Amino acid sequence: MFFLFPITYYYFSPYLIIMGASEGVISGSLITFTAMLIGSLFLGRLFCGWICPAGATQELCFKLNNKDFKGGKRNWIKYFIWVPWIAVITVMFVQAGGITAFDPFYQTYYGISIQDIQSIVLFFVITGLIAGIALAAGKRASCHTICWMAPFMIIGRKIRNAINLPALQLVADKNECTNCKTCSRNCPMSLDVNSMVQKEAMENSECILCANCADNCPENAIKLTFGTKK
Ligand code: SF4
Ligand code: SF4
Repeated sequence: MFFLFPITYYYFSPYLIIMGASEGVISGSLITFTAMLIGSLFLGRLFCGWICPAGATQELCFKLNNKDFKGGKRNWIKYFIWVPWIAVITVMFVQAGGITAFDPFYQTYYGISIQDIQSIVLFFVITGLIAGIALAAGKRASCHTICWMAPFMIIGRKIRNAINLPALQLVADKNECTNCKTCSRNCPMSLDVNSMVQKEAMENSECILCANCADNCPENAIKLTFGTKK
């Protein structure tokens, strides 16, 4: 997905969806974000851990800065971006008279995002911003702070938790845990996984279900499973 990013980045674009909405068009990025919301009912933030090219961009930055980024209150920044953005999209659709067209390839060149100098420059500005924040602040700092896509999946996960749909999830057995903290050290989202294991409360809105903690636990105390909440 990292190498395909120049082709696909319009499908993750927060601006393309606004452009489409202003003309009443359901664009590729609107379809992508809707799929994320629906998919997260069953898969949580799996997209962030396994598919997202912006996530891959930041993980490449681990070679230069792998300090933990403890989000804390800064995790809220993304909602201050997301809420006004959703409001603008809604207003644009209303002003356009509602939905008038369905065009997954809207503003792309036969489905390809990069098509001219302007789109190449934009691509490097976006990837530079995402990587720059991670390099300056720490591991996957852009996911914690500026990601406009994460709230879709966090909301989907909250709905799943509220109605207890069967979904992909982490489960832990604190009796198997030796408190070595290897899981916490390997978490790309800088979560205190060890404490989550001790409480056997593995649900965390910043967890991207990458399974690094499960893979690296020497005691197999953490597992990635599909099911309802215990
Ligand atoms: S890696 Fe496994 S054993 Fe070590 S602290 Fe985490 S859950 Fe416990
Ligand atoms: S808690 Fe585990 S699955 Fe979740 S982000 Fe951290 S390492 Fe990945």
